Amino acid sequence: MNIDQIRAETPGTKNVIHFNNAGASLMPEPVSDAIINYLQEETSYGGYETARKRSNELEKVYPTIANFINADADEIAILENATAAWNMAFFAVNFQEGDRILTSKAEYASNYINYLKIKEKIDLQVEVIPNDEHGQVSVAALEKMMDKNVKLISITHIPTNSGLVNPVEAIGEIADKYNCLYLVDACQSVGHYPVDVQKISCDMLSATSRKYLRGPRGTGFLYVDSDALPKLSPPFLDLHAAEWIAEDEYKIRNDARQFENWETNYAGVLGLKQAVEYASQLGINNIWNRVTELADTLRVKLNTLPNITVHDIGSTQCGIVTFTHTSLSPVDIQQHLSEQDINVNTSAKSSTLLDMQDRNLEQVVRASVHYYNTEQEIEELVTVLESI
Ligand SMILES: *Cc1c(COP(=O)(O)O)cnc(C)c1O
Repeated sequence: MNIDQIRAETPGTKNVIHFNNAGASLMPEPVSDAIINYLQEETSYGGYETARKRSNELEKVYPTIANFINADADEIAILENATAAWNMAFFAVNFQEGDRILTSKAEYASNYINYLKIKEKIDLQVEVIPNDEHGQVSVAALEKMMDKNVKLISITHIPTNSGLVNPVEAIGEIADKYNCLYLVDACQSVGHYPVDVQKISCDMLSATSRKYLRGPRGTGFLYVDSDALPKLSPPFLDLHAAEWIAEDEYKIRNDARQFENWETNYAGVLGLKQAVEYASQLGINNIWNRVTELADTLRVKLNTLPNITVHDIGSTQCGIVTFTHTSLSPVDIQQHLSEQDINVNTSAKSSTLLDMQDRNLEQVVRASVHYYNTEQEIEELVTVLESI
């Protein structure tokens, strides 16, 4: 990887040391250019007219994303964020009384809230798979929990609050063996980890554009396996997802775009396409290797600081590095770093309640590294933390 060139294409690196890539990465110039150019064209010629003129290019977002995660183009739906994508998938499952939903300790709040919400309407069970000794989903425990009532396994791949990487591929083997639906929240992993939907063997997978993919805010996507499509029913439809063909009849689309709606942020969609192309050109394995190398370097250095405790769990650890300080709160640390133009974020208990509760954590500092960060930036972060 040519880090100098990558940084030259990332104007934000001149202003800040950005370790908030799990929040929103710095966009590279090809991505922001694609968005700005499109908006200018809309301003000059009209929104519908521009969409028509650029339709071939806009259409390419589907094969581009599909190629990146080893899917087919008709298995991709573009949505406004990962939450919208996940909700469309989750509420498309035909839950019945007595069904079981199995999920992970590191589950994201928005997902878990919806497990609780569906339980208010349908008498079903939500069960949390125990972790193994490394702190990740125990595949052996999952296998023991399986029976014919398990309707859905719903897992967060990489959580918002730690370096954990859940073993989604091994979980997929179990989902296959017991023939249940399998939904993966890959919001933190697409653009970060080599996500391959065939290897994961999931039925549905949700992702966002602005995090490790380095795309714009306000776009995301959903993958739905074409074999799973007949088992699902989108909770909402519009005139793009379905066609109104007679007074009492409509016909639903037969691809994943039945989960979309008509109006969309076209400039953002082009930005998303450009971001996926950018990541593809660099190579997702190269990205993963560089990110994890930098994150490991940061953890090793943080471990040498007497006032800092690193909190990452799991046998494979990703670019999200989390820690606390013995006397200063995570928010104080974030503010102090921000005064030095170093961006980090904090993650509070309520975002991943089960995991944080288990580990007695109220809040952590989250320094999420990307491939465009440097060893020198890590050194600067550690130096400032040391001097606090
Ligand atoms: C950020 C995040 C989400 C939500 O993504 P949005 O694009 O903000 O909707 C979902 N799951 C996890 C694990 C996340 O970190």
